[in-house]
Amino acid sequence: MERVYNFSAGPSMLPLSVLETAAKEMTNYNGSGMSVMEMSHRSPVYQAIIDSAESDLRKLMNIPDNYKVLFLQGGATQQFAAIPLNFMNKNGKADYIVSGQFSKKAADEAMKFGEVNVIASSKDRNFCYVPKVEEFSPDADYVHICYNNTIFGTVYDYIPETGDIPLVADMSSGILSRPIDVSKFGVIYAGAQKNMGPSGLTVVIVREDLLGNPRENIPVMLNYTVQAENGSMYNTPPCYSIYVAGLVFKWLLETGGLEEREKINVKKANILYDYLDSSALFSATADKANRSLMNVCFVTGDADKDKAFCSAASKAGFVNLKGHRSVGGMRASIYNAMPVEGVEKLVEFMKEYEKENA
Ligand SMILES: *Cc1c(COP(=O)(O)O)cnc(C)c1O
Repeated sequence: MERVYNFSAGPSMLPLSVLETAAKEMTNYNGSGMSVMEMSHRSPVYQAIIDSAESDLRKLMNIPDNYKVLFLQGGATQQFAAIPLNFMNKNGKADYIVSGQFSKKAADEAMKFGEVNVIASSKDRNFCYVPKVEEFSPDADYVHICYNNTIFGTVYDYIPETGDIPLVADMSSGILSRPIDVSKFGVIYAGAQKNMGPSGLTVVIVREDLLGNPRENIPVMLNYTVQAENGSMYNTPPCYSIYVAGLVFKWLLETGGLEEREKINVKKANILYDYLDSSALFSATADKANRSLMNVCFVTGDADKDKAFCSAASKAGFVNLKGHRSVGGMRASIYNAMPVEGVEKLVEFMKEYEKENA
């Protein structure tokens, strides 16, 4: 069977050339006589892999020198607890903007460790937009946002200006989709399986001055200071996932970096949104100002019709278009690895489907 057009929200498709390189190197990495899966994480050959993954990510995102890059496990969900345990350390309070299900989960987890103020929410309109927030609690230890809302297909069209209060962002589904100014953030974290590589790896980018003062009873594996001091190798890191993410970083650098990637992503998203805006059968659910480049959510307005469409699309080779179980409808996740052609073909199919089902 040929490879399908895979619109999964995560784990999601990877660039074919990355998979082919990984396949070629599967049983004998770079003359080492072994697979990356089989090597000691303390060996020089593996150290070179993790070092180049880090330096390539720094180059791609233009990460300033006063930030640490950590390669951890546990997914973004584990960071929901790690963030308060590392940073709710002065006043025991933090501000959270709730713009979807993941930011709600992040806030709920943080409540176990201190005072959480949900300073804004877009629940009133089922998270179809991102709240604009300009004022923050002066005594908040940090402000937490979810930059791109994977389930509802919305993205921030601004970076909150939090002044001296560190801004912490869950960027799982938005990282590497376009250039972002890392210096505006205290902490950025992201599960790899959306736009970076296989699951099992979580990347944390943290400003150095925020380290060194975690909560007293913090579990060692969640302690970013310990992880930073040990080069993400306090214990065995997710070696193979780091290796594949490193291949993805190289692919992004070779194809023009994030400026070029943004152009391609805007082009892909526009192809889909333009069609949705002109369609009589489908409509996009997110407000225009906050439409995600990465997750495009749409509906027919009838659950049975949505189901019929997903099943027809799947038969035609466009898979994983079903919306998240909590919202229904459809979602096309078009991360970096989805080629323009995949979106063009999907729209062709949808136009045809619309004609036949008018
Ligand atoms: C997928 C996702 C998560 C959950 O990630 P896990 O790695 O499964 O814990 C959290 N936040 C966002 C924005 C996501 O897209």
